Amino acid sequence: MMSNIALSLDEIFILAKNVFFKNGCDEETSNIMADLVMKAERDGCLSHGLFRVPAYVSGLKSGKINGKGNPDIKIISASVVKANGNNCLAPVVLNKSIPELIKLAKENGVAILSITNSHHMAAMWPETEIIAEQGLVAIACTSYKPAVAPAGSIKPLFGTNPISFAWPRKNKPPVVFDMATASMAMGEVQVAKREGHKVPLGTGLTKEGKDTTDPAEIADGGVLLPFGGYKGSGIAMMVELLAGALVGDNFSYETAEKDNNDGGPPSGGEFILAISPDKLSDTDWDTHSSKFFDKMKSMGDVRLPGERRHKNRLDKGTRHINDDLVNKIKSLS
Ligand code: NDP
Repeated sequence: MMSNIALSLDEIFILAKNVFFKNGCDEETSNIMADLVMKAERDGCLSHGLFRVPAYVSGLKSGKINGKGNPDIKIISASVVKANGNNCLAPVVLNKSIPELIKLAKENGVAILSITNSHHMAAMWPETEIIAEQGLVAIACTSYKPAVAPAGSIKPLFGTNPISFAWPRKNKPPVVFDMATASMAMGEVQVAKREGHKVPLGTGLTKEGKDTTDPAEIADGGVLLPFGGYKGSGIAMMVELLAGALVGDNFSYETAEKDNNDGGPPSGGEFILAISPDKLSDTDWDTHSSKFFDKMKSMGDVRLPGERRHKNRLDKGTRHINDDLVNKIKSLS
């Protein structure tokens, strides 16, 4: 029988900060990472909060990740920012480069942030949402190591390759979707395995290439499938190209060839596009899009992506965390 411990958001932050600090991160990196973990728990993104901390620690312990490093941020042109992560964790790189991206997008209407050599294992809404909070449309994606079979194969080639999109709204939280292009993120499959739930048919295949609803058969040697068959496969391919060849970093399969398999996030690239609706649209884009969202929501049981998180966020109270996980994290500090 699984039991939980009630922790306040501050206690979650401190728990996470200690473990990052004790495992080779400087004060700044520890704060950025603890804030990210706390916000994932706050918003109810359980697969990308405390659950990920042991994996980050593995990457720090093996020396793959530099917890004290500094990314190099360069403005290449009026609309291109390049960040070389120098083996820092992606949230650290994002923290330092997104303000530059926002500035260029506001000035020029559009800007791209190209990130290389950084370690991403987090949700992607933190980066798109923060850009949209500045009145910009944002699209972000990153690849990983092969876990998803291209349509027609039973062998992995694509990462779970998340893509996030955020739309700004005046006086309201942005509308944000953030999804793996796998039928389910591997983190969610691992949570289902841990908690003993089945997953829907079509989530993935066993190592023999058979359909299964058992998350353990997918997580341990099997393969995930892209969402939506060949259509999702096309989008997963697009993510490989944008976060790989376009920014000048690895495809997922190249990442796997170089990674030391310590369980921590491998080094890779990220692509972020920011667009200013103020510069592009001559109409009142906010009123126009608000009408569209109202129409969507009037059509039955429709909710906007991001609304679940934003509703969870309003609860400032304790969160109930699996106590095995809390004990594991404490043992790592
Ligand atoms: P989900 O399938 O849970 O959700 C995908 C999106 O759909 C969310 O924006 C969610 O909004 C929205 N949504 C869910 N249900 C509905 C609904 N009924 N109506 C409207 N919108 C809905 O996410 P995934 O499992 O695909 O991904 C989970 C996380 O894993 C993501 O944050 C992703 O970035 C991360 N990930 C990170 C990787 C990495 O390498 N860094 C790799 C792969 C995934 P809401 O949040 O409000 O529920």
